[in-house]
Amino acid sequence: MVSDAMKLSTCLKEDNMGSETYEEAIAALSKLLSDNADLGSVAAAKINQITAELEAAVTDPTKFDPVKRIETGFLHFKKEKYEKNPDLYNALAKGQSPKFLVFACSDSRVCPSHILDFQPGEAFMVRNIANMVPPYDKTKYSGVGAAIEYAVLHLKVENIVVIGHSCCGGIKGLMSIPDDGTTASDFIENWVSICAPAKSKVKSECTELSFSEQCTNCEREAVNVSLGNLLTYPFVREAVVKKSVALKGAHYDFVDGKFDLWNLDFQISLTLAAV
Ligand SMILES: [Zn+2]
Repeated sequence: MVSDAMKLSTCLKEDNMGSETYEEAIAALSKLLSDNADLGSVAAAKINQITAELEAAVTDPTKFDPVKRIETGFLHFKKEKYEKNPDLYNALAKGQSPKFLVFACSDSRVCPSHILDFQPGEAFMVRNIANMVPPYDKTKYSGVGAAIEYAVLHLKVENIVVIGHSCCGGIKGLMSIPDDGTTASDFIENWVSICAPAKSKVKSECTELSFSEQCTNCEREAVNVSLGNLLTYPFVREAVVKKSVALKGAHYDFVDGKFDLWNLDFQISLTLAAV
């Protein structure tokens, strides 16, 4: 007898889920559930299990309740911050004028609002794996491009800060990609390869260091690659030359509780000004 998992895997392959649109994926899932009674019963059993777990969570105070956590968090924010700062929130209701565009890692330990005490309205943010700025590419990286364009041209931010951090899993992933370029994930390795020049630099210049130390160096070098990539956006380049935008690199070390901040290498500014 063929297992349910194998059946599912076969159906997924036949339906070529990887390249489907959202609508096609939903239709394929419905087809799977209606055409295959066995799979339908598997799904029903799963729903029953999840329902039972949710019910158990309500009665078991030690079990994590995500809805309760979100409710408690918002009520705390509303009582302690929103209602105590009516001037700020009234002003923010009319618009935003942040001074910073910040790139930070998606890592749950490095939220810039926490570590730099940014208040609402102070920093426009992009968070992604390993806080990377991809080079200008209208097709591949339109999501990041749109955020940079909006921040620079419409919000007129005065500073763009790229913040790397200690123990970054994305950088470790980049440093672990084999030399032959073999990848094992759908997205992660391809994404972090944006900062492949940082990996090459560290691998060639820091041969005496341990892998962990090389990763720490790469966390900083990757920030510099991202600063360089920012200059591939014509509106950023123009703003840097006009000195209406400053580019800054940073590294937050949550092991030692340190934060380093540095400016874009002055030579790059000079070279640009001369072009
Ligand atoms: Zn990270």
